[in-house]
Amino acid sequence: MDRSNLSMHNFIKKSALEIGFDACGIAAAEELRDDAVFLKSWLDAGKNGEMHYLERNFEKRINPQIMVSGCKSVVVVLLNYFPEQQQPSNAPRIARYAYSETDYHSVIKQKLQLLENTIVEKYGEGAVNKNYQHSFVDSAPVLERRWAQRAGLGWIGRHTQLIAPGIGSYCFIGVLMLNVETKYDRSVENRCGKCTRCVDACPTKALNGRSLDARLCISYQTIEKKTEVDEAIKPKLSGCTLGCDICAEVCPWNRKWAKPHQHEALKPVSEILEWEGEKWSGLSEEEFNRMFKYSAVKRAGYEKMKQNIAIITKTKNREK
Ligand code: SF4
Ligand code: SF4
Repeated sequence: MDRSNLSMHNFIKKSALEIGFDACGIAAAEELRDDAVFLKSWLDAGKNGEMHYLERNFEKRINPQIMVSGCKSVVVVLLNYFPEQQQPSNAPRIARYAYSETDYHSVIKQKLQLLENTIVEKYGEGAVNKNYQHSFVDSAPVLERRWAQRAGLGWIGRHTQLIAPGIGSYCFIGVLMLNVETKYDRSVENRCGKCTRCVDACPTKALNGRSLDARLCISYQTIEKKTEVDEAIKPKLSGCTLGCDICAEVCPWNRKWAKPHQHEALKPVSEILEWEGEKWSGLSEEEFNRMFKYSAVKRAGYEKMKQNIAIITKTKNREK
């Protein structure tokens, strides 16, 4: 493609798609004042549970100009991770974002680096501030969903995830901060309307329609929380052993828009697609380490995974 006559805004967005992202938008790097108030009250209420890293770098989280000196624009990219094939229905459930053999952080970081190189080649070294970390994937100091919403890539649904028109909510978000100004995208309208399906479907009542209480969320309980799943949550795990997709599955926009991704780098671990219920009960440490060697959920650890499988097997047996 001849990109010589494109405006910077179009050049960046077209380049991101050529590099393999599924969507790209750009927002002005302004302080997130409303989010600051919300985030403070959320943290004060302790809704982050044991995720104390969310309490650090508060000023940076709400102000990109504190994060990266001279930052003017926030480029946001999406990568669809919705897998073509799902797990057997009797297997302990693993959230879809964790299916891939490769850690999605490294997949997105590499692509963001390519995008940065392309931008620097065209607009010069001053386009980014290399003295500061300026690209981010799922990293505590950046409110990625808010930036995606501001960059016109979608809206934040009642399940607190980004819903991108044409993609849905099964997508990773990456952020690249630039020190140059450009044209910005307009936010899209929130289309949740009167729907409350995600709030109603959440087995642990972690959603109240405005925010998520991470302490109650199955994703937190089965991955982030170092100690065993809380007694009150155990009977509500609904077969989930690593993460939870229940609120995403019931969302009508995902039913309409979620389509299998075409990213070779996000190829699923074959055992996740093949193993039935019984097989998971005998999961060895060696198998866990091999299957999740590069996975983003390896941090949950073998012991936690075994505990989670034992909890859901026990609950299922009781229900028989
Ligand atoms: S991920 Fe699961 S537990 Fe967490 S809010 Fe959604 S439905 Fe509830
Ligand atoms: S399930 Fe309904 S309320 Fe929840 S995010 Fe989707 S559209 Fe919005």
